[in-house]
Amino acid sequence: MTNNNIYFIANWKMFGSLKSVNSLNKVVSYSKKNKYKAKIIYCPPYTLLKSFVDRTKNSNIQIGAQDCHIQPKYGPFTGAISPKMIKDLGGKFVIIGHSETRDENDNNKINLKIKSALEENLDVILCVGEKLTDKKNNKTKSVLKKQLLEGLKNLNKLNKIIIAYEPVWSIGTGIIPKENDLIKNIKFIRDTLKWSKKFTKSKVLYGGSVNPKNIKNLMRIDNIDGFLIGGASTNEKIFIDIMKKSII
Ligand code: PEP
Repeated sequence: MTNNNIYFIANWKMFGSLKSVNSLNKVVSYSKKNKYKAKIIYCPPYTLLKSFVDRTKNSNIQIGAQDCHIQPKYGPFTGAISPKMIKDLGGKFVIIGHSETRDENDNNKINLKIKSALEENLDVILCVGEKLTDKKNNKTKSVLKKQLLEGLKNLNKLNKIIIAYEPVWSIGTGIIPKENDLIKNIKFIRDTLKWSKKFTKSKVLYGGSVNPKNIKNLMRIDNIDGFLIGGASTNEKIFIDIMKKSII
């Protein structure tokens, strides 16, 4: 099986200096080889957005940000970055609702951020996922449902929204869900998305401790459209290794 059209989204979190832009070179040449058809998207910190856009010019790699403000354009919000600013730098995507940025009791903000991103025509990667306590208390499904229904309330342009299932207990821990649980939860997300006919074609990714050792098994789960990768994506060799091993 090829990995054509499979997403590999690199979330660099708060890592990376101007020097680390060089670590894109190998990935850029890898992506050009054999007209590589997987979709590679880098989400560096805001400070590196422009450098990443410049370095990936003339390749099929696209760039996104890791969060955005609820106001699409400009406003008196110290320290904030709007979708318009991301677009201005050449960003095409934005991660929204990552567990490291999610505001505990304010799912409404997630919905507003998505609206604001869509208004500026950015593609959205919406992260959803249960915490360990939710899992232990059998609340995974209710948490996922709440995050999806609240996050996606009254939205249009649904073809521009990708869902990333990221169990919080799996992020950065080296632990991934059991295959059966993953299949079940991804299916639950897809079924929940059917509440609105507009979402039936949405892509659903998995994120949490993806690495070269577990990618082959993860690729065997055929209802996953790709991966959101944190730690392992900041090392070019490891990131390329994951993409190579994903061809099964
Ligand atoms: C993430 O931050 O979205 C993530 C999946 O991190 P990691 O791959 O390091 O678990």
